[in-house]
Order: sequence, then C-alpha cells, then structure tokens
Amino acid sequence: MSTFIECENLVKIYKIADLEVVALQGLDLIVKESEMMALVGPSGSGKSSLMNILGGLDTPTAGRVRVGHYNLLELSRRDQTVYRRTEVGFVWQQTARNLLPYLTALENVELPMALNGVRRRERREYAMELLEGVGLADRVDHRPDRLSGGEQQRVAIAVGMANRPRLLLADEPTGEVDSEAAETIFKVLHDLRDSYGVTVIIVTHDVMVAREVDRVVGMRDGRTSTEILRRRDGERIISDEEFAILDRAGRLQLPEAYIEELGMEDRVLVRLRPDHIGVYPEKEDEEEDEASDEKVEA
Ligand code: ADP
Ligand code: MG
Repeated sequence: MSTFIECENLVKIYKIADLEVVALQGLDLIVKESEMMALVGPSGSGKSSLMNILGGLDTPTAGRVRVGHYNLLELSRRDQTVYRRTEVGFVWQQTARNLLPYLTALENVELPMALNGVRRRERREYAMELLEGVGLADRVDHRPDRLSGGEQQRVAIAVGMANRPRLLLADEPTGEVDSEAAETIFKVLHDLRDSYGVTVIIVTHDVMVAREVDRVVGMRDGRTSTEILRRRDGERIISDEEFAILDRAGRLQLPEAYIEELGMEDRVLVRLRPDHIGVYPEKEDEEEDEASDEKVEA
C-alpha cells in the first residue's frame, strides 16, 4: 500500500501572550493508505495538536506534512477549506460537538453533502447507506437527544464519512461512552475502513482498541516514541511487537520503565555488537576510557 500521510520533523508551537508552548517537537510519522492506526500517549503529549493539523483545522509551525497530494504547510485559505470539506472527516470526543441537536440523524449526515452541493436524492441514499453501515438504520429519524452517547458517536462517524473523505480522524471518540459502546464504535470504524478503504486515525486511551487496529503509535513529549505492530495470519493475531522509533538523526527514545529499571541517567554506553546495539548504564570507573567516544543523548 502506498504512503498516504507523511509528517517529517513536524513542529507546532502555540503562542499565548509571551508564552510559547511546544506541542509537537519534530514529529515523524508515516501512514499508509487505508491503514487503521491508533494514537496513544499521556495527556499533553500532542495527540490533539497532530490531529488538528491533519484535519486542516490548525497550521503547523514548521516541518513537513503531506496528506495525499496536499501539502498542509503551504495551504492557501481556499485550499484549506476544500481540503476540510472533501478530504477529511473529523469526529470529536464531545458528542454535542459532532451533531446539530435540532436535526435528525439522517439530516445530520445529509448536511455536509448539502453544503457540497450533492443532489437531494443522492444525499438521502448515501446517508441511509452510511447509517446502515454504522448499525443505525432503525434510528435515522431520531434527534441526538433520543440517542445514547454511543449511538450519537456512530452518527457522528457517519457524518464524518458523508463527503467520502480519504481520511477519517477521531479524537478520543470513545472518551464519553461505556466500554460496550466503545467496542461497537471501534468495530464500526474498522468496518468502514474495510468497506470504503478510508484511512482511519483514532486517538484513544482504550487498550481494547488494539484489537481493531493495524498499528498503535505511542506519543511522548510531542513526538512519536513507540509503535506496536500487529502480525496477523488471516483473522488470527500472531503477536504484538513493540518498536521504538528511530528518527533520521539517529535518535531513539528508550522506554521510561527500562531507563528507570537500570537507573540510567544523562549518559549511557552504546556498543555495537554483531547483531544488535547494546545500551548500558554508565559506570563510575568506566567513565573515562569507555564512555568518552561513544555516547547518545537519550
Ligand atoms: P493531548 O491531546 O495529547 O492531550 P495536546 O495536543 O492537546 O495534547 O496538547 C499538547 C500541548 O500543547 C499541551 O502542553 C497543551 O497544553 C498545549 N496546547 C494544546 N492546545 C493549545 C492551544 N490552543 N493553546 C495553547 N496551548 C495549547
Ligand atoms: Mg487531546
């Protein structure tokens, strides 16, 4: 599958008065077409900042970011609007933010199509198809307040898909629903990916999500730090392997737990072995002769 999203050394700095907050500090990420990826990481690690940039809702400060043939760093106002309306669908955590309260589920899904000038009949047909796809064929005439939180999020997913985007972004879509509803939401996203080939990125705290996605990318301090790849044999999951991400400058983020376990600090010894690289805590007596020429800043 071809590369669909490419972020390179992506930087986002928010300026509030005299204060600068670095939300993304040199993030690298590649996402393949039709991939379903989960983004995890502690609060404040930059997940939403990345999602807002990929959604065309915010512009990066520096670096490179490409989605399809759109270069998001140099998008004119007009292209940004086109991008948002045609290339990407967005689902927010807050159910109230996704849907208009006075429209039915069907009307909510039809609305983005109406704004894009899609004819009434085609609108209705496709909205019905999507609502069926998210398992809500029997709820199309309900307004949001007559739907459960999980159902509202599934309508929101259908709204996000209405303009046939190539990319669907969901920022903690299960944050306000119970675990059973969350499972249904993940499954629906998975099914949509399979039926329409849409690329899906989900921000989540939910470990259960791992069952539905191809890859889990961990973020820390404004960068991607780990990846869990799923190896499958048909439907069967063979193994989950966790990888650290090596950036172009050769930097690597070691898992915090490993660093603590070995009491590593400031400097470590790095040794090339026949088939691997060893990283060792710096020992007092070896400081001079061993650590002087090879060291990394972790
Ligand atoms: P996450 O979604 O992983 O919790 P965010 O991307 O929301 O992380 O935030 C990353 C950092 O950027 C945090 O320090 C946060 O306080 C800051 N931040 C996010 N949005 C804004 C904003 N609009 N203005 C100023 N700072 C922001
Ligand atoms: Mg967030």
